[in-house]
Amino acid sequence: MRIGVPREIKVEEYRVGLTPASVREYVADGHDVIVEQGAGLGIGASDDIYRSAGAAIVDTAAEVFATADMVVKVKEPQPTEWRQLRENQILFTYLHLAPDTAQTKGLLASGCTAIAYETVTDAHGGLPLLAPMSEVAGRLAIEAAGAALRKSADGMGKLIGGVPGVAPSRIAVIGGGVVGTHSARMAAGLGADIVILDRSLPRLRVLDEMFLGRVRTRYATLEAIEEEIIGADVVIGAVLVPGASAPKLVSRAHLARMKRRAVLVDVAIDQGGCFETSRPTTHQAPTYLVDEIVHYCVANMPGAVPVTSSHALNNATLPFGLALAGKGIRALIEDPHLRAGLNVHRGQITNRAVADSQNLPA
Ligand code: NAD
Repeated sequence: MRIGVPREIKVEEYRVGLTPASVREYVADGHDVIVEQGAGLGIGASDDIYRSAGAAIVDTAAEVFATADMVVKVKEPQPTEWRQLRENQILFTYLHLAPDTAQTKGLLASGCTAIAYETVTDAHGGLPLLAPMSEVAGRLAIEAAGAALRKSADGMGKLIGGVPGVAPSRIAVIGGGVVGTHSARMAAGLGADIVILDRSLPRLRVLDEMFLGRVRTRYATLEAIEEEIIGADVVIGAVLVPGASAPKLVSRAHLARMKRRAVLVDVAIDQGGCFETSRPTTHQAPTYLVDEIVHYCVANMPGAVPVTSSHALNNATLPFGLALAGKGIRALIEDPHLRAGLNVHRGQITNRAVADSQNLPA
């Protein structure tokens, strides 16, 4: 199969679909890999490094889309990209279709077979291709919160870990999955006072064992969420209902009861956000104020650390990508976990949660 890697064109996106190490694996399996010139520059991988890994370098994205049997990317295709996709072509990338009607229509019209990283499953009910970016975003959320708490950034002027004799910041993490766990780990390392709220009791049990009393856990009733956010200096929004839009757990009315200049980090913004007042922001202008509460809502957080993120993502996508390259769409029939990633196929939505969130048939 011919595998194509275009340069990412979303604003401030420096990751790349295949690292040179992954290219070597595809080539070793007998596939052709074409890479758009400059695609790896954001992670410090020059065209020559890709050539020595076995790729052919092409001048334009158009050449990638016109000749590749499978296009491997990071972010959802942009309008100029979805117009170049076609029938019998596999697209393997993050899609986040639930809140994105325009892209859904674009993919349906293209006739391509679109497999979304974020809905591929594993045998334990996890999301193995979302997990590495969630690990990155979860850890980064605490760095972002620390920066936003500073006076110069409109925050209340508090250090996450405090110092001996001065209390640390209170951090409420809503959603104790991959993002929430990694946020809690970072925050614990810095010495914060942390609570994790989740709707899953089994998950709370795992977290309780993992943190051995270092982090409090609470079942996420409306009342518990309200109590914890009111006392918090930082709230991390890290919930997920797979494939669906995020539930709104903090309303505008809540903001008036929170500490002035507290920080909300809405990591779930890529699924529409779990705070009523969230709207997507960029790394260039990551925060804004609503009712004197600082909001950080960057939709592509891992893009800030493209080297770590691209390698982490490739470690997870490689076995699935190699299966698709080797077997084509037969790989989807053989592996129910990869099939769970199939969101759009030849003009049909094939994922129930995506279809339901847009009132379209699946
Ligand atoms: P996950 O499935 O590992 O964890 C989600 C957790 O939320 C689960 O433990 C679940 O029980 C809990 N949950 C669901 N509904 C809840 C509710 N009403 N109240 C409390 N808890 C609830 O998911 P994850 O990998 O941690 O991802 C979390 C979110 O972060 C997703 O929306 C994901 O797309 C997003 N994300 C964003 C970025 C970014 O750059 N902004 C990067 C990576 C992931």
